[in-house]
Formats: sequence, C-alpha cells, structure tokens
Amino acid sequence: QCAAVCPTGAITVASNLKDVWKAIYDPKKRVVAQVAPAVRVALGEEFGLNPGKNSIGRIFAAMRMLGFDIVFDTSIGADLTIMEETNELLETLEKGPGKYPLFTSCCPAWIRYAETQHPEILPYISSCKSPMEMFGAVLKEYYKEQDEKEGVSTVSVAIMPCAAKKSEAAREEFIRNDVADVDYVLTTTELIRMIKEIGIQFNNLEPQAPNMPFSISSGSGVIFGATGGVTEAALRRVVADKSPTSLKEIEYLGIRGFESIKVAEVPLGDKVVRLAVVSGLGNAEKLLEVIESGEEHFDFVEVMACPGGCIAGAGQPFSHRPEKEQRTAGLYKSDSVSQIKLCEDNPVIHDLYEGPILKDRTHELLHVHYKH
Ligand code: SF4
Repeated sequence: QCAAVCPTGAITVASNLKDVWKAIYDPKKRVVAQVAPAVRVALGEEFGLNPGKNSIGRIFAAMRMLGFDIVFDTSIGADLTIMEETNELLETLEKGPGKYPLFTSCCPAWIRYAETQHPEILPYISSCKSPMEMFGAVLKEYYKEQDEKEGVSTVSVAIMPCAAKKSEAAREEFIRNDVADVDYVLTTTELIRMIKEIGIQFNNLEPQAPNMPFSISSGSGVIFGATGGVTEAALRRVVADKSPTSLKEIEYLGIRGFESIKVAEVPLGDKVVRLAVVSGLGNAEKLLEVIESGEEHFDFVEVMACPGGCIAGAGQPFSHRPEKEQRTAGLYKSDSVSQIKLCEDNPVIHDLYEGPILKDRTHELLHVHYKH
C-alpha cells in the first residue's frame, strides 16, 4: 500500500484505498461518504477542468458510479463547527482579555504542532471537533437504528485534501464505544485514482445532488477550504447586523487572500475584537512569539498548517500559486451564489439541533478533549 505524506512532514500514513474498495463490494456495508469543501475546486484539474471550477456535482455522480451508497458535503460539518465555535468565542470575549486568544481547531496538523511544540496553549484551543469529525459523529448516530434494522453496518469515508486527516480519524478521542466516527479517509488524489481506475469519463458526468436529509449547506461552510474562511464564517455568525452590506464589510476586512498573517479589528457590541488569520506553521510560530511576549493581543486566531489553507493541502493535485488562487476564488464564487450564506439559516442545522441526534448531546458528539 502506498503512503500519503502531510505537509508538516510529521505524519505519514498508509492508504485506505483497498479498505474502501472492500467495503464498497461488501453487501453488508453501507458506505457513506462526505467530501470536504477544498476538494471540489481542485479534483477536476486532473480531468482538464480549470482550477477553481466547482465540480462537487460531478464528484457526487462519480462516487455513486464507484459504488458509494450515500454522499454528503462536509460543508454541513463546517456549519456545525461555526455554530459551536462561535459560542466559545462569545464566552472568551465575556471573560475579558487574557494572554491567549481562542485558537481554531479544525486543522489536525496544527493540533499536532501545538501538542508537540506548544503544550501551554492547548487549553486555549477550541474544543470543537473538526467539521469532518463532527459530521462523522452525526452520520454514525443517524444510521445506527437503520443499520440494526437492515442488518448492515455503516462505513464512514471522508474525502479530504490532506493526509493529516487520516491520522486525525485514527485518534482514540474520535472512537466512541469502539466505533470510529470516520472509518477511512481518502485524499483528493486517491479519489482521482479510483475514478481513473474505473475509467469514468468525469467531464461527461451530469452533476448530481447529495443525499437527503443532509443536502443543504451554507456558503459559510464552503469557504472553510480557504485561509480566512473559518474567521469570516465566525464573524457572519456573531455580528448583529446580517444585512448584505454588513457581510460585504466582513469580506473586505482583509482576512481573505494569501498573506501569511492577516490581522483585523471588528467592533462587536461595546468591544473591539482583534482577530488574526495565519497559514503555514512557520508563520503560526512567528505569531505565537508575539502573543507569548505580550507584544500583541488577539481574541481569536485561525491557524491552518498549509499556506493558503486546505485548497493547497498535500492530498490535492499539485499546484502553484496561480492554481491556488483560482481554487480560492472558486470557493468564494460558490459562496457568492449560494442561497444560504449563514450557518444558522441552514434548515438542516436547525433540524439537527432540534432533533434526537444533537438534542442534549452536542458536547458528546461535537466536542473533543485531546488526551495528548
Ligand atoms: Fe489538512 Fe492543510 Fe487543511 Fe490543515 S490546512 S486540514 S493540514 S489541508
């Protein structure tokens, strides 16, 4: 089996391609997959589509041809992450300024870096699981009863832009009652390999929609794939004014784009919130130095290990700066045409919080305390 390598160089993991094929051919398995936001704007490049072209509909169609039973969009997991993470941000602001900000938690390479290099900041990293893990936990709960009735078991597969997600899925913290929230992670390039192996004419596919009932996600969830996307989505959730003008103002705060460290200040009630967005672990280190020394104070810091964010993950087709920029533009374009911009307006999210899966179980299913 071949191995996939994480950009930090810290994580090398075996491919799960054979396991996924085996599950697909096993009639006793229900193979349920989720596809990360960044995958849709890069996978098509291998089939001659322009970088940034959103091919999520074709990806769903190809995956059904490959034999995946059910396909979903991880952007729903991102919507859940923002719902939970902004609660933590508001609590942090309520407490008043401390030495450390609330750090984001959706990048597993960043978590690993903090665990090994900066254990002092671990209490300040959000307890939110990543979108992949949140959605994985929800999906395992959702199919539990149906599996028992039908005598099958659900295998949860995630298509992700990086190899670090494989190690994340295998962590003991994400295995509840001996059941993993996500069983296998395939990178974008591994999914491309499956599509090529079967000889699917990707460009000729008619786009398809994801399965019900998790078929709607917001634009906020989709922009998670770009550096600054988590912060922008969080701001949309916490500001009182949700008008198009206000959302435009957030867009122009300076948190979009490829600059390695971006800083913004946003008035929120009687406070001014200081935010930083950093991508690349070397840049995160620089930012941590000024935070540690007390030179700078922030309330919220988004960290992504890959420069540019997940669109540039090591599990994506190889890219240079122009392709990365086009992929990023593709995600923002998807957001701009999406009918639902805010995670709290997503009816699927409403139903989840009101329904039996998440009611009184948000802590158990959506949060994590790493054992290090
Ligand atoms: Fe993976 Fe890179 Fe995204 Fe982190 S930033 S989750 S390492 S693709």
